Amino acid sequence: MARSSGGRTIVLGIDSVDLVLVERWVAQGLLPFFAKMLRNGPLVRLSAVSRVLQGALWPSLLSGRSPGHHGNFYLTQLTTGTYDVDTVKGDRVPLDAFYDRLSAHGVRCAIVDIPNDMPKSGFKGLQIVDWLTEFQQWQFAAQPAASKREIEHRLGALSRTGGYGPTVDSIEGHRLLRQRLEKGLAMKSTLTQELLDRNDLDHIFVVFAEAHKAGHFLWKYMDATHPDHVAAEPYLRDAIQAIYVLLDRQLAQLSRRLRPQDDLIVFSDHGMRPNYRGDHFVGTILERLGLCPCERASRLDIGPTRSRDSTRVMSRMRRAMRGLISTVVPTSVDQRLRRQFGAAARIDWSRTQAFSVPTDRNSYLRLNVRGREPEGIVARGGAYADLVQFIGDEFRALVNAETGKPAVEEIFNVHELYPGPCVDDLPDIAILWHSDAPINILESPRLGRMSIRVRENRSGNHRAEGFLLAQGPSFRSQRKDLHGDILQIPPTLLALHGVPRPDDSEMPPLNDLLVGDSSWARRDRVDRVAALTE
Ligand SMILES: [Zn+2]
Repeated sequence: MARSSGGRTIVLGIDSVDLVLVERWVAQGLLPFFAKMLRNGPLVRLSAVSRVLQGALWPSLLSGRSPGHHGNFYLTQLTTGTYDVDTVKGDRVPLDAFYDRLSAHGVRCAIVDIPNDMPKSGFKGLQIVDWLTEFQQWQFAAQPAASKREIEHRLGALSRTGGYGPTVDSIEGHRLLRQRLEKGLAMKSTLTQELLDRNDLDHIFVVFAEAHKAGHFLWKYMDATHPDHVAAEPYLRDAIQAIYVLLDRQLAQLSRRLRPQDDLIVFSDHGMRPNYRGDHFVGTILERLGLCPCERASRLDIGPTRSRDSTRVMSRMRRAMRGLISTVVPTSVDQRLRRQFGAAARIDWSRTQAFSVPTDRNSYLRLNVRGREPEGIVARGGAYADLVQFIGDEFRALVNAETGKPAVEEIFNVHELYPGPCVDDLPDIAILWHSDAPINILESPRLGRMSIRVRENRSGNHRAEGFLLAQGPSFRSQRKDLHGDILQIPPTLLALHGVPRPDDSEMPPLNDLLVGDSSWARRDRVDRVAALTE
């Protein structure tokens, strides 16, 4: 079903593009496309579930549902009912995506490289999965199937299974990464141009992953205050800026192919900043609190409380293994190593009340709940609530001794925030660390002083806030600062096509973005509902 206006909806996801960096480089005149969008239209600052559970972001955006309804929060998750950690695939989201609903209502869609996505059998549009994504939870696939061969043949691919392939953590590896990102960006832009030139599409949704990968791996070259800063040549020093400049240029080119009735949304899911967090202290903290007595032997990163040489050797070995796991080891080996060296290996579960599960930003704690975990000892109800409160209080009391400021920005009671049928798949507690400075020394009245330094192989990590820019006949055409939630994107897209929201939709469309109270989208929705019932 085409929109009654005849226009299309074009959504360009610019994964992990950071608004602070955009505004800085707009002020320097480096990003003319972003400057124009910011000057002439609304800016929606987006909050998201990723502030709590970073890996829940795209599953929530795809489904329009909060994490308790899909149970996804990271690339490797504890499998409920076991102590095993397993790789999570794209088919773990048990919900329809917004594009399934668009397609079911006759909207002709092209969906390209949405993270956490997988090919959908009932979907009638063009779908490309994990061609040039930052991380893969599926593998490079497309439907109709012939379009994969066509893309490989005409535009190419950078890895046999999809995405950018592993990044080697070295100067040479990072030079190669910049080359590959620039190449991938050009490939993605070419495909998007071709989609925009077609006459048989109503909805085009393409995600660009290049700023995401650049932000994680190349941050330290740009940021002279970062402890791992390397004063490298301008090719690396300016690499993130160069990716933003190239992205700006490609977006400008794409926007020139829009037709007057088209609506354009450019949005970033979350931002990027230095990777400062305190996850490496979690094992020691749980041990000192008496919540995980054998955590010392089970954690991959062991703190200053270690005493025996053999423990130190194991610690070094595990740390080395972890470096390998997070950089170059393929998934199946990763899984085996995690099982061998991971949380489950050496914990005395009969004395464990809380333990940590894998993460790459916020810390995640799981309580050893009776009836849920194989050897659970924490009763649901009052004991559970007391333990969540106790842990929260202890983490909130932590001070970063090098700044004198609190080390933790916020503690989240995940099960209270995100109730739903999949809530038991989620961690019980999520800890958002203050990221304004490295966290090397922590202290608190009960826990004393702890000093652990780690070097992360990713010098940048996510800022939780994203942003959205919009241009076209359905949107306000003046600069206006708005606030919204990433969960409002799916209902907004449905509204733009006049497709009614599902009954279980959790949030309204971004109505303040749309023109007037009797916006085109609302009028159209009424028209569509009327048309459907005729
Ligand atoms: Zn990331």
